Amino acid sequence: HAKKGNQGNVVCYTSDMEEQMTWRLGIIRQLRQDFENNKLEVWYQPQLAFSDMSLKGCEALLRWPSGQGNYISPEIFVPLAEDAGLIVAIGQWVLEQACQQQKRLENQGVEICIAVNVSVPQFKVKGYAQQVKDTLLKYQVKPKNIELEVTESVVMDELSMVIETLQDLKEFGIEVAIDDFGTGFSSLSYLQKLPLDRLKIDRAFVKDLPEKDSGAIAKLVIALGAQLGLKTIAEGVETQAQADFLKQLGCDEVQGFMYAKPMPEVELIQYIESKK
Ligand code: C2E
Ligand code: MG
Ligand code: MG
Ligand code: MG
Repeated sequence: HAKKGNQGNVVCYTSDMEEQMTWRLGIIRQLRQDFENNKLEVWYQPQLAFSDMSLKGCEALLRWPSGQGNYISPEIFVPLAEDAGLIVAIGQWVLEQACQQQKRLENQGVEICIAVNVSVPQFKVKGYAQQVKDTLLKYQVKPKNIELEVTESVVMDELSMVIETLQDLKEFGIEVAIDDFGTGFSSLSYLQKLPLDRLKIDRAFVKDLPEKDSGAIAKLVIALGAQLGLKTIAEGVETQAQADFLKQLGCDEVQGFMYAKPMPEVELIQYIESKK
């Protein structure tokens, strides 16, 4: 009986949506609570120069402990935090953590650049550029030692506003990278309009290297970067074959499990020591 079946589907769909909604609200409530109780962590993943494998920088990555040494993936909770507007406060906290971490390392004689991911809602806050500048001044971090990673979604949101904000930050001396390059749906024309320093080749194009199709894309991104005067960094490098391929194409830097996974500060310091 078709009609009944349809109704059945509708009811089922609605309860699924309700369940989803309840789940999301529960996660957001817990995240807000854990954030307020200072339970979030920032881990750091090393970024190395292909030329001599020296440490150039680190990417700051959020970690949300869920007990027993487990963590909820930022791939799950960052989008929820973005929807809930919570990413604005969390993102500012990550930036402050990164600044303090940068300064602690510099005081120990290790001067590297720390990259921080920035979401669309953060850019929309009035005075965002000034807030970032104030934060760096507060911790006396040199602007060249903080890099903002923005995705194509940021660029696509309100290009004129983003250009203005990034130009302001660029004049201050902050580094800007396009994250997950090539996975968004934006036109390439924004590359000419934005003050960029780096392109991050997404893991999706690194995964199958040196297989033919991904090889072609990696090659194109590296060549594009060179033409535009931008540095290129590959993320998600797990094998020597991938590394060899990227290096031979002229990719500048590398970040991946093959070299180092994201790690808390204590381990990062050990890692730096072990490289000396
Ligand atoms: P992303 O910015 O593209 O960060 C790189 C992701 O690739 C990280 O995942 C990192 O752990 C992972 N990765 C690096 N090398 C390898 C590798 O060799 N193999 C594999 N399989 N993965 C590798 P993670 O830490 O789970 O973060 C996922 C995403 O969550 C990030 O992607 C970023 O979009 C978002 N995120 C993390 N922290 C923050 C934050 O503080 N703010 C914002 N707005 N987003 C964040
Ligand atoms: Mg990133
Ligand atoms: Mg990325
Ligand atoms: Mg990625």
